[in-house]
Amino acid sequence: MNSEILDLQATLRQQVRIVLVDTSHSGNIGAAARAMKNMGLRRLYLVKPHRFPHADATARASGADDLLAQATICVDLDEALAGCTLVVGASARLRNLTVPLLDPRQCAEQTLGELVAGDGQQVAIIFGREHSGLTNDELGRCHHLVHIPSDPEYSSLNLAAAVQVVSYELRMATNVLSGKDVNAEKEQEITETNAIDQEPLAPADDMARFYDHLQETLVTIGFLDANNPRIMMRRLRRLFNRARPSVTEMNILRGILTAAQRRKQ
Ligand code: SAH
Repeated sequence: MNSEILDLQATLRQQVRIVLVDTSHSGNIGAAARAMKNMGLRRLYLVKPHRFPHADATARASGADDLLAQATICVDLDEALAGCTLVVGASARLRNLTVPLLDPRQCAEQTLGELVAGDGQQVAIIFGREHSGLTNDELGRCHHLVHIPSDPEYSSLNLAAAVQVVSYELRMATNVLSGKDVNAEKEQEITETNAIDQEPLAPADDMARFYDHLQETLVTIGFLDANNPRIMMRRLRRLFNRARPSVTEMNILRGILTAAQRRKQ
């Protein structure tokens, strides 16, 4: 795997906090931990969880209970945001439009972009209460809001589902950010392919001489019956005509035939 992608994944693990504020259902905490771990995030912060640790959290976390064990429990949001230079609030409703609004993809690209450019700073993405979301005061602490563009008629996702979507986009953004290199490699490949595609194709008379040479060689090496070459030669013609070899490729094929004949003599 590309080392740049690996570095970005370490950035996700170490520098992105998912902060759940005042969560009432312990199961949601476990499901959020699982969503995070699937996407390569590790830092879970819980502000005043109603019941934690709890069997429901452990059950829903499945194999992500290590994140629960390492979760940081905070008495208030200030504590959870300590040391963060970028704070993003996830909101199901578009109510506080004084804070710039991003969709999860923009949020991920911007977040990772800042982390990569910076020097080890921490980012927090905060998620609100199941019943009432984040307060205006909490939203006011955010540099950006992230809203998952759901159906306005029913816009509120389950808390852990929202964590999943935002985390997924963060993971995808690691690829986008490394995309420059990947694209450069692709461009190089395309250029090489185009160069080959632009070689002049072997004209029909060259092809005819090649088929004669091919038939002669196949008889010499004992592959083809000299008295009955037609069916096999028809198939081989179809094959090479489909390939439309260039002059250079034709020269390579002729070289192979000459070498085979030489060995036989
Ligand atoms: N009833 C609450 C929503 C609670 S859902 C309200 O109307 O605000 C719990 C949390 O999940 C939200 O606070 C938010 O952080 C996150 N969430 C749910 N749906 C979301 C969406 N469409 N976009 C962004 N975050 C969302």
